[in-house]
Amino acid sequence: MLVVRTIAKLRAVQKKWHSEGHKIGFVPTMGALHDGHLSLVKAAKSKSDKVIVSIFVNPTQFNDPNDLKAYPRTEKADLALLQPLDVDLVYIPDAGQMYSDQFATNISVDGLTNCLCGASRPGHFDGVATVVTKLFLQTGADKAFFGEKDFQQLQVIRRVVADLNIDIRVIGCPTQRETDGLAMSSRNMRLSPEARAIAPSLNHIMQKCIIDVKTGKSVGEAVSNAKQRLAEIGFGKIDYFEFRDIENLELLEQLDRPARLFAAVFLEDVRLIDNVEIK
Ligand code: AMP
Repeated sequence: MLVVRTIAKLRAVQKKWHSEGHKIGFVPTMGALHDGHLSLVKAAKSKSDKVIVSIFVNPTQFNDPNDLKAYPRTEKADLALLQPLDVDLVYIPDAGQMYSDQFATNISVDGLTNCLCGASRPGHFDGVATVVTKLFLQTGADKAFFGEKDFQQLQVIRRVVADLNIDIRVIGCPTQRETDGLAMSSRNMRLSPEARAIAPSLNHIMQKCIIDVKTGKSVGEAVSNAKQRLAEIGFGKIDYFEFRDIENLELLEQLDRPARLFAAVFLEDVRLIDNVEIK
């Protein structure tokens, strides 16, 4: 497994692979890897000749400096998890590699980014869209794998790829969960034992809310009950708890088209997000 830290070296390797006719699969991450990330790596392995995983905690997508500072960095453990999966190359640039002092380009996606995490984290998706585009260009990947856990991010990246005619296939992969239902996240390790015990209730309350709507409650009433329940259990600020169209992420008052339920809720100082498909 090659560990590469510079754009020049990454370019040299990916160009050689392409010249040999290999198709490259790419999994961008911010490290602190867990089974959610590894599921993307396994999907990439099964659908590509060569697999590149990047680990880069991208400063420009954090709107809260404390969140950036607190973000876990576990490079040694990450490499140990990737090695047995037969990853071909791990790309670990530092911020200097990615952003020169003169850096001035921003990729900004309208519409899709005005709601959900875009509304509560100003500038977040500009940072994501810009860094992911840079990584696509650097890796020269043919396919890229993203988790549905960050569904809005997946749709934003699909928009960027379509709008900028980037020759890459974006593949969404299902959210991996702990056995108690909590969506796996690098942030979960920051939860106290008490908060960790409460955290799975977010998914349970989302599931209950969907059942309530399916069995006749209005969206408004079901959502209001769910929010009340979250507060009773001990969750803090609710950034959003909303049903939205899966394509344009429009807010829905009725489930009359393909939809997902999206939530972002604080527990202690950790912001948990989840989304559930409505079958
Ligand atoms: P991150 O390191 O949080 O930026 O995530 C890197 C990639 O892993 C993104 O495509 C995420 O959507 C994906 N990911 C994170 N958590 C999960 C999960 N629980 N299940 C599936 N994919 C995930």
